[in-house]
Amino acid sequence: MGRRPTALIDMDQPAPPIPDLARLAVHTMTHQPWSLAQCIAAYQPLGVSALSVWRNTIDPNLGGVTPNDAGAMLRDAGFTVPALVRGGFFPAFEEPDRQQALDDNRRAIDEAATINAEMVVLVVGAVPDMPLDEARMHVADGIADLLDHAEARNIKLAIEPLHPMYAADRSCINRMAEAREICQQLDHPLVGIALDVYHLWWDPDLEFEIRRAGQMGTLFAYHICDWRPLTRDLLNDRGLMGDGCIDLKSIRAAVEATGFTGHHEVEIFSDEYWAMDQAQYAPKIIAAYLQYA
Ligand code: ZN
Repeated sequence: MGRRPTALIDMDQPAPPIPDLARLAVHTMTHQPWSLAQCIAAYQPLGVSALSVWRNTIDPNLGGVTPNDAGAMLRDAGFTVPALVRGGFFPAFEEPDRQQALDDNRRAIDEAATINAEMVVLVVGAVPDMPLDEARMHVADGIADLLDHAEARNIKLAIEPLHPMYAADRSCINRMAEAREICQQLDHPLVGIALDVYHLWWDPDLEFEIRRAGQMGTLFAYHICDWRPLTRDLLNDRGLMGDGCIDLKSIRAAVEATGFTGHHEVEIFSDEYWAMDQAQYAPKIIAAYLQYA
């Protein structure tokens, strides 16, 4: 017997683990400077195959492609689409404004069906000077009015509670409990909740509400990023996972304990990261996801 040949791969050593990116999804708005085509082209070779699509990328008036073209691009590239983002903004003092919002939401549902998205995320809205409990009634009524259309297209509607700093003009639903109450009121399999850690990490009832949502079958989506303690902007200074103070692993554990099998959707609005070379940012997001989320 001759000497054992030098192997390029030492079979005695375990192979390095293959990063599990099967459940990672990225919101197109995380790469605001990029088109949908650029997002697809960048993430495909990195092993990510899910994108949640913001409507600006599929609106030709805003420089996007048509929903039909977007659907074909995503399908051809083998991407799944957890969500179209976003619909909502139901509360309004005047009936024509309310109807206009409903029409826009029906268009969002149509677009979601065209790009084969599972759900439309609802940022429910709020109107300064309208009491929050009254606004929440507008939200429940508005979602109820969309149910026929959502059923016809088989699109889920995910209520996304927003941090209370947005209660004046973006969302009268600020905790999972308020979203749950609307889910209970409407009691419809297409109505559920999008849990975004940026908005809900501080809620002392979060774990309890996650469990409830699991039991009710209303936990539709899980959005991740981080909260910078010295936040510089209330909208566009979200942190990348690991940048801030959110206990992402504990929240994920609570989410997974419900049997949630959906995606971990990275949604980061950040002037700082949007200013970066996006081609360098994408692998940084994957590394942060694997290490901290
Ligand atoms: Zn979100």
